[in-house]
Amino acid sequence: MYTCNVCGFDKLEWPQYLEDAAPNFIICECCGFQSGYDDLDLGKTFEEYRNEWIARGTPWTNPKKRPVNWVMKEQLLNIKA
Ligand SMILES: [Zn+2]
Repeated sequence: MYTCNVCGFDKLEWPQYLEDAAPNFIICECCGFQSGYDDLDLGKTFEEYRNEWIARGTPWTNPKKRPVNWVMKEQLLNIKA
């Protein structure tokens, strides 16, 4: 399992970036960030996307993956500095 750089969701099935830092174009099931699109095509940083996602009310792309007692601020702690 891999962790999303934007929201800290730590159950991604694939890494967002490959070993050579090439984007893997996977969409986070939590925040919806797509590596290679939101960052390279749209030019957003992780922080910018995160702030926009929080401003939108932290919607889940795949609500079925959302834990019952999900706490956004705890999940954000998973992000590596
Ligand atoms: Zn995410």
